Amino acid sequence: MVYSYTQISQYLRCPRSYRHRYLDGWREKETRAAMAFGRCFESALGGYFNGEDCGAVLFKEWGTYREASFEYKKGETWDRLLHQGIHLLQRFAQDNRVCVRNPGKDLQIKYIRTLTKGTEFVAYLDALGEIDGVRCLIDWKTTASRYPEDPKGLLSLDPQLICYSWISGIPEVALVVFVRKHAPEIQYLRAAISEEQRQEFGRLVETTVSQIEAGHFNSHSGIRFPQNGCVSCSHLGLCLNNDQLIAAKLIRKPGASDLDWLDELVD
Ligand code: SF4
Repeated sequence: MVYSYTQISQYLRCPRSYRHRYLDGWREKETRAAMAFGRCFESALGGYFNGEDCGAVLFKEWGTYREASFEYKKGETWDRLLHQGIHLLQRFAQDNRVCVRNPGKDLQIKYIRTLTKGTEFVAYLDALGEIDGVRCLIDWKTTASRYPEDPKGLLSLDPQLICYSWISGIPEVALVVFVRKHAPEIQYLRAAISEEQRQEFGRLVETTVSQIEAGHFNSHSGIRFPQNGCVSCSHLGLCLNNDQLIAAKLIRKPGASDLDWLDELVD
């Protein structure tokens, strides 16, 4: 079994959801335009660092989804996302704050760590580079709204960045957030992860994996207003025995769990 950040975080959110997804093979259908667009945009960023025409890369990648029956948020269309993406790429080039010196080696970097019982944990880091001259590991995000920056230091609590710092041993981390809005904006958010946080995350991974391997899959339903986790859980139909909801949201692929670490590529 190979574990990833996505698996650990899904188990911590709700062990029942983990079981639906990773043991029973219920995967969410790809219906959200923003998610597919995010992947295309990351390919365009790869093109940018490799000296290619990144706008053309985005057009080609996103073009494969032109006729896809995605759910678009209010005011969004295929064209609008493309234009927002092109503007963001132009802004990124003008800002010129991020440097990836060796794109062949420092983009989509695979890290593997062996856990105590011999199982492995794998992560793909988006990039290793410099932001404003500071060397750090970088995660790209595309989003429709800004990431919160206050209070100061908030980013150092981001579990995904802590995970990446733990697996790579690199304390300096950053999110480069591409905000798709009328006037495109890019946030360059840096943080430092402490050794204590890395060790704590390592312990969290070990205990979570033991719980999974012991077969503990109790539900942690979200029952309180306003943050009811069940409402945004793709497995809600299974827990409510609602066939309509299952058909709308899920597809079953038994046996796919061997490749679950690939989820890291779309985070
Ligand atoms: S719907 Fe709620 S209880 Fe069911 S798997 Fe999702 S989060 Fe867990």
